[in-house]
Amino acid sequence: GTLPVAILVPGNFNDHAIGRIDKAFRRVRIERADPGLVTDEMRRTVRGIACFGGIDAAMIDALPNLEIIANFGVGYDSVDANHAAKRGVMVTNTPDVLTEEVADTTIGLLINTVRDMYAAEKWLRDGDWVKKGNYRLSRLTLRGRRIGIFGMGRIGLAVAHRLEAFGLPIAYHNRRKVEGLAYDYHATLKGLAEAVDTLICIAPGGAATEKTINAEILSALGSNGVFVNIGRGSTVDEAALAAALENGTIAAAGLDVFANEPNVPQALLDAPNTSLLPHVGSASDHTRRAMADLCVDNLVAWFTERRPLTPVPETINVKARG
Ligand code: NDP
Repeated sequence: GTLPVAILVPGNFNDHAIGRIDKAFRRVRIERADPGLVTDEMRRTVRGIACFGGIDAAMIDALPNLEIIANFGVGYDSVDANHAAKRGVMVTNTPDVLTEEVADTTIGLLINTVRDMYAAEKWLRDGDWVKKGNYRLSRLTLRGRRIGIFGMGRIGLAVAHRLEAFGLPIAYHNRRKVEGLAYDYHATLKGLAEAVDTLICIAPGGAATEKTINAEILSALGSNGVFVNIGRGSTVDEAALAAALENGTIAAAGLDVFANEPNVPQALLDAPNTSLLPHVGSASDHTRRAMADLCVDNLVAWFTERRPLTPVPETINVKARG
């Protein structure tokens, strides 16, 4: 019989995904996705990669028999999908299965940011409720807020549906207006930031959105402004955000993602009025298992039926060889 297909898995990976890869394929481990660590044996045999992003053009070029990169996660800004398309390499991601979970996390982060839940709980746990009395009233509220969503895609829409049920008006910015959607559309991010006081970023990372949340946008959001980022840290000018929080340009920020994870700039840790999470948007056992299944199902579909389940747009026309 033929040898099982070799799938390269850089670094630590999801346990359920590893278990499934080991059943259907031959798993090849590599410490990290570094072309310098690619052996001749890998060059000859590796036909697929399963990864949490982090695949650049040089890594793709280092593997001449590579056919598919199955990214664990919907965001694939750290996979060079344009270069993969040029090389005839398929890229898949894990859309939809995490949408509701990430939307739930976004609502939690928003409320935590506005109503000071972390500090209030700490007050109770530290014994201050008994010693000092009631926790101070929150300076901010969700009531009366106008919501702006930067990135009205799958997750953006799930966030909008939740906040609509909260009784809050919704507006959004995308490059293109979503047909048939009743929320106010703004053709520019600046226009959206001027129209709302609560900006939620769930846009993809990458060059097109890099540092688009800058001093000008934060200033447009205004002094009652709340900024929540659940998309990618690269989308934010973190120094400008820390300054805006420090000098009262905006009121508060809730962040699940950072430009250089797991490192969080000291200025954001020190800034008043931040709620900071360690990139846990989709991080429940339930949802990570569904993502693992979709990641591996893409590999299985590719190597059995020669077509992926969820290709990214850049590689939609890549055809299986042979
Ligand atoms: P979608 O592709 O469904 O939505 C992305 C939306 O962003 C689209 O509406 C798109 O509209 C808009 N958009 C893309 N580029 C731009 C741009 N340059 N300017 C303005 N709008 C833009 O993706 P999902 O909703 O499934 O996921 C969104 C992102 O959320 C992921 O890419 C990922 O980075 C992040 N994410 C974070 C998680 C976390 O744990 N914190 C978990 C899961 C996802 P248009 O094309 O018209 O511009």
